[in-house]
Amino acid sequence: MIESNNQGKGAGLGQGFKYTADYIFDGYRLRKGALLHLNAAGEVLGLIDSPDAHNLKGATHFAGILCPGLINAHCHLELSHLKGAIEKKTGLPGFAQKVMGLRSFPKEEITAALELADNKMWENGIQAVGDICNTTDSLAKKQQTKILYRNFIECLGFLPEQAAARFNYAYKVWEQFYQVNPASSLVPHAPYSVSAQLFAKINQSLSALPGPEKRIISMHNQESAPENEFFRTGRGEFIDFYKNMGIDLGFYKPSGKSSLQTVLPYLGVADSNLLLVHNTFMDKADLAFALNQAKSLNMQLYFVLCPGANLYIENRLPDILMLLGAGVNLALGTDSLASNDQLSIAREMQHILQAHPALSKETLLSWATLSGARALGFEKLLGSFENGKNPGVVLLSEELDLIKRIL
Ligand SMILES: [Zn+2]
Repeated sequence: MIESNNQGKGAGLGQGFKYTADYIFDGYRLRKGALLHLNAAGEVLGLIDSPDAHNLKGATHFAGILCPGLINAHCHLELSHLKGAIEKKTGLPGFAQKVMGLRSFPKEEITAALELADNKMWENGIQAVGDICNTTDSLAKKQQTKILYRNFIECLGFLPEQAAARFNYAYKVWEQFYQVNPASSLVPHAPYSVSAQLFAKINQSLSALPGPEKRIISMHNQESAPENEFFRTGRGEFIDFYKNMGIDLGFYKPSGKSSLQTVLPYLGVADSNLLLVHNTFMDKADLAFALNQAKSLNMQLYFVLCPGANLYIENRLPDILMLLGAGVNLALGTDSLASNDQLSIAREMQHILQAHPALSKETLLSWATLSGARALGFEKLLGSFENGKNPGVVLLSEELDLIKRIL
């Protein structure tokens, strides 16, 4: 069957690609010594175990693991110019304040840095990105890149009276992205930065979009301990953060619950994918609460881990074993170059392996490929070597270090 695809195409190999490797990870499991066959456009034609000499004719062999292009489920391309600008281990409130203080940079500098970061992500084997946008800075680059983007246009504003203005600003940014890429949605930034009124507007706009594939939502979640403290007691570093920004919190009443349990009911969008990003300070009760809401509204939850950024900002990782034990969907993200030394999903796998050396490589690879593709709604095209998909091909070492992009 593999050979029949080459019939009538002259030299055969020139019309496509045949690859073997020590292992091929197909999106689900590692297949020792398998053969991958793609056409000239990179579309998967077949994957066969125990190929015979006839199958192997003209195949290129690689030492290591061949896997589908990696999926970066959380990034901020437009912050690429902030590489190295913020010191490590400041904690989130301190980090957020520094990012705000660094917002005005020359456009050319922003554009040059994000173009470089996009090219580097491609080289790093990244096929698709879930990218947070607060501006249209990345719009031009995204119209001429090999990477597939899902844009999350973020709404930010904790003052209830600013909800309409903040929503209208984000909506205008969203419209510009949506016109060129329908895989663009309006999303909340984080529990501590979005008012109930603004959540209501986001929820309304998401629910109005036709088709569940459009309802893909992302939110930063429980990235720091002060975030939960702010909701539980109304005290902690976020009080100073808002004071420094000149925001009067006179209206604010803490809920007495964790941040996630407070705001998730505002984000009850039926038939949606909800990507909860970071989860560094999420506990069992929060997880149970989230799963319960997801079940009642037919929401698909994805917990996106950004270990590189968590180590950079908080020097702590989420409770990965709790998430693994609960059998939830996991995906990986790099966050931005403001909070990471590189945008590399292979590097994120390294961070996790370092903390959990016994973790199954198949599990980790599935988070980095098919699960990430599903989170972003790109699973029909990317994330696994299944016939008809065009997922890209990346070579990793058996320790899951990046060797190079193959296709
Ligand atoms: Zn982020």
